[in-house]
This record gives sequence, C-alpha cells and structure tokens, in this order.
Amino acid sequence: RAKKAPGLDTETLDVARAAVIGGGVMGRGIAGLLAERGIPVVIRDLQEEIVRQALDAIRTRFEHQAEKKHQPPEVVAEKMARIWGTTLAEDLAGTDLVIEAVVEKMTVKQAVLEEIEPLLPETALFATNTSALSVSELQKSAQRPQNLGGLHFFNPAEKMPLVEVIRGEATSEQALATLFATALKLGKTPIVVADRPGFLVNRLLMAFLNEACLIVENGVDWLSLDVRATSFGLPMGPFRLIDEVGIDIGAEVGTTLSQAFTYVEKSSLLERAAEHKDLGRKSGRGFYRYQ
Ligand code: NAD
Repeated sequence: RAKKAPGLDTETLDVARAAVIGGGVMGRGIAGLLAERGIPVVIRDLQEEIVRQALDAIRTRFEHQAEKKHQPPEVVAEKMARIWGTTLAEDLAGTDLVIEAVVEKMTVKQAVLEEIEPLLPETALFATNTSALSVSELQKSAQRPQNLGGLHFFNPAEKMPLVEVIRGEATSEQALATLFATALKLGKTPIVVADRPGFLVNRLLMAFLNEACLIVENGVDWLSLDVRATSFGLPMGPFRLIDEVGIDIGAEVGTTLSQAFTYVEKSSLLERAAEHKDLGRKSGRGFYRYQ
C-alpha cells in the first residue's frame, strides 16, 4: 500500500512490521524506538543471551521513562508487547523494513544482507545503520539494490534527534522517501546525505577525534584533555565520547575515513586500543570505568 507522507512528493510504503539485526548499543536503541512509536519489531542477534540483554535493557529504559512520567506499568507492557527477540533469521520473514546494526565491517554486513534478503517480501526495505561504510558498495551484494539505503541513527538512538538518510547509487526514490518518512514517524529530524565515507556527521567528528588521539600520542594525558574539552562547552570530551561509541567502532570508522581522505596524520591509538577487550561503556570499561 502506498501513500504520500506530509512534505514528501514521492509515495511511501507502509512500514507495518520492522526488524532490527544486532542487539548491541545501537540495535537496542533503534528497536526500542520503533516499539515506542507503535511499529512492531523483532530484534535478531546471534546468541540468545545477547537478545535477552537487549530486551532487558529496553524494558529498563521504558520503566525509567514510565516512572519519570508517572505512567502506570501497563504503558511499559503495551510497548514491550510490540517487541520480541530471536536468533533465527526465518523469524524476519514478513517484515517491511529491516534495519541492520551489526558490527562495522562490510563483510559482515554483506553476509547479513545475503542471508536475510531472500526471506523478505519483494517490497521490503533494507536499511543499514553503518557509521561510515559505502551504501552503494553494500548494494552490490543485494538482489534488490533499489530497496536498500542508509538510515544512520546517532547514539543514544532514542535521544539523538538527527538521522542521516543515505541515498546509495541504486536506492529508489520510493525507498528513500519511505526511510525519510519512517525517521519522521520515529520523531527524528532526517537529512538526506550523499553516500560518501562518514556521510556528514562522522566525517566531521572523526577529524576531531583523530586530532584528540594525536595529541595524546604526542604525550598529553588523555584525561586532562578530556576534562579541558568540556570546559569549552562540549557536552563531553573526545575520550568519553569514544567510550560511548565503542572503541572498536571508532577504530573502524577512523580506518574507513583515513582510506578515503588524506588526514594531516592518522593516529593509530584507537586501532591499538581496540585490540583489547575493554571497548568502552558497553564492556564496562574503556578509557573510563563504568558501574
Ligand atoms: P555493538 O558491538 O554494540 O553491537 C553489534 C551487535 O551485532 C552485537 O550484539 C553482535 O552480536 C551483533 N552481530 C554481529 N554479527 C551479527 C549477525 N551476523 N547477525 C546478527 N547480529 C550480529 O555495535 P553498535 O555500536 O551497536 O554498532 C552497530 C552498527 O551501528 C555499526 O555499523 C556502527 O558503526 C553503527 N553505529 C554505531 C554508533 C555508536 O555510537 N556505537 C552510532 C551510529 C551507528
């Protein structure tokens, strides 16, 4: 069924059921948001334990929200009734929109696409939440590349207003308009961006984070740099931000951008730090310790 969204000239498709692949930092935020805004959603990850943790984290967030707004427990139950988890790819059949939020590696995203796309209806859209990888490159692995685009949420997905909607070389106008309309439905501010490494925000952001890493490699203590950065008005310093993002994700994005653009100098600090198990807030420890 097609209709036009307010402010859009192109007809959009109905998104009655969604799926999110990857129940990590971003996947759980995006899935919670969909459920909250009335779109039934299934989260798929590889292990039951991760799926359970993702659902628990979403429930806890809904409970805190209900407490703050003095809402009865039924409100939480109603939102949770729209969300469920699975480890099985087949459970994604019949969804209208799949958003992948698996690790930031092209090969993994290609494998996920190749596994899931054949299970979906012909009209289903597939969106990638990649931070910096090429949507057009991913489209080369698709059977229906016209149905694929980027829907790049920011962390935390439930709070950050901006969503980058990425037009790959083959993305159809209808797919683009539907992704745009979905972001609006989720209460976000979508902007359409070209398919260039890092799109708009991460291209700007990584230059800043790379520079912070270089300063540390030049001998400045990371903590004092982080503290000083907040004193000139940033909500958090670069290293707390890297912890929130995940050191592994930061390292991958830095590599993608340094291959595409010539930096003054590329720091290797994040790649070296990503070899350890402490990857930031999600691991309980990164530059800072959590809990
Ligand atoms: P994460 O490491 O927290 O979570 C990734 C999840 O994907 C893990 O739970 C992992 O088990 C799962 N996974 C891996 N392979 C899978 C597969 N084949 N099928 C199903 N699940 C699989 O990572 P994240 O921070 O949530 O990032 C996910 C994506 O979102 C990346 O592309 C990243 O660049 C992007 N992103 C991240 C941020 C951020 O701040 N962390 C912001 C915007 C976009």
